[in-house]
Amino acid sequence: YDDRDGKIWMDGTLVEWREAKVHVLTHALHYASSVFEGERCYNGRIFKSAEHSERLRTSAELLDMTLPWTVEQIEEAKYATLKANGLTDAYVRALAWRGAGEDMGVASARNPIRMAVAVWSWGNYYGDAKFKGAKLDISKWKRPSPETIPSAAKASGLYMICTMSKHAAEAKGCSDAMMFDYRGYVAEATGANIFFVKDGEVHTPLPDAILNGITRQTVIGMLRDKGIKVHERYIEASELEGFEQCWLTGTAAEVTPVGQIGDYSFEVGALTREIATDYEKLVRS
Ligand code: PMP
Repeated sequence: YDDRDGKIWMDGTLVEWREAKVHVLTHALHYASSVFEGERCYNGRIFKSAEHSERLRTSAELLDMTLPWTVEQIEEAKYATLKANGLTDAYVRALAWRGAGEDMGVASARNPIRMAVAVWSWGNYYGDAKFKGAKLDISKWKRPSPETIPSAAKASGLYMICTMSKHAAEAKGCSDAMMFDYRGYVAEATGANIFFVKDGEVHTPLPDAILNGITRQTVIGMLRDKGIKVHERYIEASELEGFEQCWLTGTAAEVTPVGQIGDYSFEVGALTREIATDYEKLVRS
């Protein structure tokens, strides 16, 4: 991804894609002091753009970092980057991190807070699975307690176990992995939230040890608007066997049906398809 034409927004200016570099003594690289956003632009409009910009600022605050950019300035940066790259349909990656500077220790409050925005074309996050149903591995890693790590932040440090889980899953021919949380309840996939259907009602984990995804919240709203009951609750591992349908939600994943989690199978059913179609319409409307 580093060697290509294009522009990346860095700390207030658009720089050449190839020149968007940081120093090796960047604090974030050593101590994971970074937060990010994943967004999608459809027909020139970023879906829930302000919510993503706000979450970026909130994630940074949760890591003791105050972004030197307001939500409005982040909005401008994102649209300026899209325009500079001539894209109207794209994935938008905003990233903020503690840079290199005065200190090289764990505490580096005097180091600058940096920010970048990159955009690129990104098709279906799960490829074919978007239609056929994704096959998920069960990760050996557990989502940590919110007393262990700031679970509500979209912080890079939380993705260490996601990358390892996804590598293990792909090695087994799976699209992704589902993680349980530190208590053993169903949590989420490595970059998406999870929903289940049983007897016409929907069940999804409480967002206390997972990212409360913007897509998750959107889909819960869509279901409730249809009069479908949504239970946000703790889901035990033993319940997986009884669910009929399953899907993932996320900005990149959108609404992706799940066909299998470990040894458990799910049908790509009518409600899953309906929600996936409705979501597609909503983001483009
Ligand atoms: N959980 C994790 C771990 C994620 O990385 C993502 C993607 N940001 C999500 C859930 C879904 O979040 P959103 O709907 O806000 O993209």
